[in-house]
Amino acid sequence: MIEQESSCGNCCTCCTTLSIKADDGFYKDKPAGETCEYVANNQCSIHEDRFSLCRKYECFWLQLAKKVDGGFPVIWRPDNLGIIITPKPELEKDNKIPLYLRETYKGANDLSRPELKSFLDTIVRLSRKQKKEWEMYLIPFDSEGYGRKLIVN
Ligand code: SF4
Ligand code: SF4
Repeated sequence: MIEQESSCGNCCTCCTTLSIKADDGFYKDKPAGETCEYVANNQCSIHEDRFSLCRKYECFWLQLAKKVDGGFPVIWRPDNLGIIITPKPELEKDNKIPLYLRETYKGANDLSRPELKSFLDTIVRLSRKQKKEWEMYLIPFDSEGYGRKLIVN
């Protein structure tokens, strides 16, 4: 049976993998791949008083997991998948919403990995069902750029 969840559980991936700007109300400019200094034992040590942008952030896995009865497969959660997906609705253009797929370790974006392929196939199926267009961009672990566009059929 596939384990499913609808909450972050033991994951703390966004606190390391994502780049965060001081301009957004964070305590410093944190580059991608650097662990926030408030992480302790793989959890946020200031959870109750964390920054407002930390409260607001939900990766795509979490957003989907909250919408689906019984949650979403844990193998697709960023700590297990090695990819964290951030939707960028504010950059929507021509009815297409970008999804940034950032590696949590070098080489995670190997599209031949069955768990990654199955998650991407599911995203494509959901986009058709919900009549939404999501454009996926693969971003390497150590890049601050926007990555390359991914075509998944
Ligand atoms: S990466 Fe997603 S699942 Fe993991 S802690 Fe962040 S929001 Fe939660
Ligand atoms: S303050 Fe807490 S939630 Fe925000 S990035 Fe740091 S550890 Fe994560």
